[in-house]
Amino acid sequence: MTGGTGGIGTAICKRLALAGHRVATNYRNEEKAREWQEKLRGEGLDIALAKGDVASADDAAAMVQEVERQLGPVDILVNNAGITRDTTFHKMTSQQWTEVICTNLNSCFNVTRPVIEGMRARKWGRIVQIASINGQKGQYGQANYAAAKAGMHGFTISLAQENAKFGITVNTVSPGYIGTDMVMAVPEDVRNKIVAQIPTGRLGEPDEIAYAVSFFLPDEAGWITGANLSANGGQYMGW
Ligand code: NDP
Repeated sequence: MTGGTGGIGTAICKRLALAGHRVATNYRNEEKAREWQEKLRGEGLDIALAKGDVASADDAAAMVQEVERQLGPVDILVNNAGITRDTTFHKMTSQQWTEVICTNLNSCFNVTRPVIEGMRARKWGRIVQIASINGQKGQYGQANYAAAKAGMHGFTISLAQENAKFGITVNTVSPGYIGTDMVMAVPEDVRNKIVAQIPTGRLGEPDEIAYAVSFFLPDEAGWITGANLSANGGQYMGW
């Protein structure tokens, strides 16, 4: 999976490892990643690491190769790495737009492309994108992020159609606001206003997203493809 060292990513790595999967993720900062890996080892979980920036196709290809060297073929891919560069569109720089599109959307091409042929050859695969509630409903100050996350849905449903006959399902989880660093970085008064819009009355937990991802993985979920699973405390109940 990508972005496994982050808030939601760590929860996904843990849940999948506890379910018996051999799990790997990418890193950019070696020291930070090794520290993270050691912490999880302390909890009895061994997660493999491969260096790579998902915004780079070359890095992503090398990263997949390294994961396959360590663990064997990739049967499950979770495209989770993501960033925000929030500002209203009339103030947005080309760099803020491009960084978000490259990291959140181009990454889906970069990382999925090197694994898809193997999945098709083996006639089994699971691909899950972590999109966002804001890709479903839009968000003030997030034209770049909402465009990238909405794009992940188009990617998901096209890939689902192309690969259904090969035993590969492709789905999206769209989280609402989860209490990770990404959301805790938002000023407290803004966060309180967000929580007030969530019917469950609280931010989500990273493991609640990990659970949604795990739903798509077993053989029994083989009939579910091209779906979008909203996990947002009821904040948005559309598609
Ligand atoms: P974090 O910021 O905690 O984690 C992001 C992860 O992505 C980190 O591991 C980070 O690695 C990695 N990453 C970022 N950019 C790159 C890159 N260019 N190449 C490789 N890895 C990269 O975020 P969250 O856990 O909160 O979010 C995970 C996903 O969930 C994201 O796609 C986000 O958009 C989505 N999401 C989050 C919500 C929330 O409320 N938190 C709500 C809806 C969606 P590094 O340590 O190297 O930066």
